[in-house]
Order: sequence, then structure tokens, then C-alpha cells
Amino acid sequence: MKIETKAVHSGDRKPDPDKPGAFIPVTTPVYTASSYIYESTAKLDRVLGREEPGYCYSRYDNPTSAALEELMTSLENGHGALACSSGMTAVHIALLAALTDRRKSIVAASALYGATTSLMTKVLEPLGIEINFVDICDLGAVRQKITESKPGCVFMETISNPLLRVGDMDRIAELTRAAGAALVVDNTFASPLLLRPLEHGAHMAVHSVTKFLGGHGDVLGGIIVADQEDIEIIRSLARTVGPGLGPFECYLTMRGIKTFALRMERHCSNACRVANWLSSHPRVARVHYLADPAHPDAAVIRRLFPDGLYGAIVTFELKNGTKEEMFRFMDSLKLVVRATSLGDVHSTVLYPVIASHRDVAPKQRERMGIHDGLVRLCVGIEAVDDILADLEQALA
Ligand code: PLP
Repeated sequence: MKIETKAVHSGDRKPDPDKPGAFIPVTTPVYTASSYIYESTAKLDRVLGREEPGYCYSRYDNPTSAALEELMTSLENGHGALACSSGMTAVHIALLAALTDRRKSIVAASALYGATTSLMTKVLEPLGIEINFVDICDLGAVRQKITESKPGCVFMETISNPLLRVGDMDRIAELTRAAGAALVVDNTFASPLLLRPLEHGAHMAVHSVTKFLGGHGDVLGGIIVADQEDIEIIRSLARTVGPGLGPFECYLTMRGIKTFALRMERHCSNACRVANWLSSHPRVARVHYLADPAHPDAAVIRRLFPDGLYGAIVTFELKNGTKEEMFRFMDSLKLVVRATSLGDVHSTVLYPVIASHRDVAPKQRERMGIHDGLVRLCVGIEAVDDILADLEQALA
């Protein structure tokens, strides 16, 4: 089945094996029970021992989260999944799982979501895990770093934030596997409609489902989809640590995912129009968008995104954009929402200097290419003419 069909059908309508002929709900209900009983203790014993499928205790497993996990496994073409309480929990558990039976050392992309960088430097490094950052778009540097540090895990994002750089996932997966390490990819910005990391050799794909998968700005959650080798470690970690997503949030996420492919197509076509429009606007100095033929990673992008869907994020820079000017621009927007998230049905704008890169020193920010005039726009699914009209009046 194609991904659009899987998004609508996968995970739902599981008949109860103990009640043949009973009714089957069309969509998965919210199972709020924290524990489950069986007619005999012998059966409970077999389920607890995992000799038979079933549910005992919701920290271990829950029918609503299992349905979401089956859905995401099918969308990412993985072997299994774990729904987590946030995108950050998913990143954390994925890294712990990657390092469980491997060397306690990570090679990570230098441009990552801020909290992921903090997780590495403020939580994992103090515990004795070695962290080495590298420019993930410089294959020579990645090769050298992997050879020198012999990591147990390589971590990257499919599309970096906010400058939208794209590393060569196929080559990085080859280098990672040759070193006996696990490649973990944060696929939040792309979504499985645009790219599926496990098909490119990654061991695990993680998502903040808070973004495009949930899609409506009403749920916080995360998911890890893994290959056969890693899913058992993830499940065993989860039983002990208890990072799971609550059943109501799982339900909301599944409800969001049913329309995600449809929404994503509209996000992408709107973003393409907005990027083109901005690039000829006299007040705009520079536009970063994956469809740009002059993008520094254009050759890799053409190979990794063959369907011509380039995502919803457009980052642009205003000419002589001081912080005061940027505040004035943002405050003048009437339709586009000034919010710290992305991937919602509505367009959102974020100013990295006060949000994602707030804690980075100004000189370091400049070196990273994150200038005072830079804004990140996540283009929503509204009528594109209304988005353009709002940008036009705010730029004026
Ligand atoms: N990964 C990326 C790329 C993100 O943008 C975010 C949040 O913005 C996260 C992970 C963390 O997700 P959550 O906020 O759901 O914990």
C-alpha cells in the first residue's frame, strides 16, 4: 500500500482474539485502564512472560499506543515503534538504546534542535558518554570523526533547523554501519511522506509528533521507529523507564496522522509558492528553501527527495534586519501565528535569535549563519494567497 493509504488504515480495527464475532470499532478507542485481567491466572502468566500477545500493565503496553506504534511502523517501513511522551523523550530513549550494546560515544550533527544539543552536552556527557560534533554536510569530516572517535551512535536531523541543510543520509549510513555504530535520524522536519530514514540505512527514525504528524497544535508526543535489531532493546528500556505516551495523546496523534499526507502536500506546495515570492521581494536579502537549485546541498536533496516535496519550512533574512525591525515585522503579522512550534495546520513564524538559538552567544550565532535578520516560517495549509497577503502587509 502507498503511504497515503497506510496513514488512513494502518493500526486500526484489530479484532479481539478472545471474542471472535464481537463488534470491532472502526477507529481505535482510548483505553484508559492501567492494568488488564484475564479469565485465568495461567493466561496472565503467559502474557506477562510474553509467550502470548496481550496487555497487562500500561507502562509495558497499551492497546491505544500499540495501534499508533503499528501505524508509525508501517509509515516508516520499520520493524517496530515506541510512542513517547514527547519528541525529546523519543530522542533520549533512542540514544540510550543505540548505546546499550555499543561504544558509549556519539558523533552528532553540529546544527541540531537546541534541546537535543543540551541533552547531549548537559545530560549524557556528564554521565561519561563522549560527544563529538561535526558538520554533517561535510562527508570528509564525518568520515574522519567516525574513524577517530569510533562512536556507538551517529545522530543527525534529516533537515537542519533553521538553515535547512541536508546531509547525505545514504553515505552517512554506510560509514556508520561500517563502524558498527547505529544511525539515529530525527525525521521531524521531513515527515515520512518526504523521506523514510530506515529505507536509507538508518537504524532508527525519531519524530516529535507534536509537529506535522499530530498537525493540529493540540498534542505533545514523540515516536521512535526502529529496525529489528534495536526495537527489542527499546521495548525493554521502555518497560523499565516508562517513557510512554498517554492513551488520549495516542488517540489524538492517530487522528492527526490520518490526514497528514494530505496536509503535508498542501504545506509543501504553499511553502514552494511562499519561497518563490519571498525571493523576489525587495526587502528580503536571502531565502533558504530545499527547492532552490542554488541550495548548497542541491545534489543530495534531488536524490533524497525525488518526489519534489521539499517541506513546509522556509527560512528568510530581511535586509538590514535588526532585532527591533524583526519584532516590528513579527508584531505586524495578522494571520501567521508567532509561536515556538511548527507543523500545525496554521502558519507559524519563529525568530531563532530569541527562541531556538537564544542561548547561543551572538558571535557564535553569526558564525553559524544565524543573523539578526533571520526568521523561520512554517507555512500552513491556509489559502496561499492569504499567507502572501499577510507577509506583504507585514513587510510593508
Ligand atoms: N526534534 C525537532 C527537530 C524539533 O523541532 C523538536 C521540537 O521543536 C523536537 C525534536 C522535540 O520535540 P518535543 O517538543 O515534542 O519534545
